Amino acid sequence: MTGKPAVLDDYVPGRKYVVPVAPLDPATERVDRHLTVLIWDPGTEEWGNGVALCGRAVARGPATGEGDCCRDCITILNIYPRHLIEQE
Ligand SMILES: [Zn+2]
Repeated sequence: MTGKPAVLDDYVPGRKYVVPVAPLDPATERVDRHLTVLIWDPGTEEWGNGVALCGRAVARGPATGEGDCCRDCITILNIYPRHLIEQE
């Protein structure tokens, strides 16, 4: 995402980032990437994410490289309440 750090080491714990992620089961998907919200877990001190913005199951952690992004995720991102992905 534009303006966002490219690697996890640059991410600031406590903030949330929208990142591209690979589908959990690429063989059943028509797209290479979904979007999800990456959240810092202070308990485990690791970054984690849930399902894609569109609700599909995705792999853990940001995907690298390029790929066709899910249109549903992009549509949802555009209506996603901004305060949910800004600094808490
Ligand atoms: Zn999606």
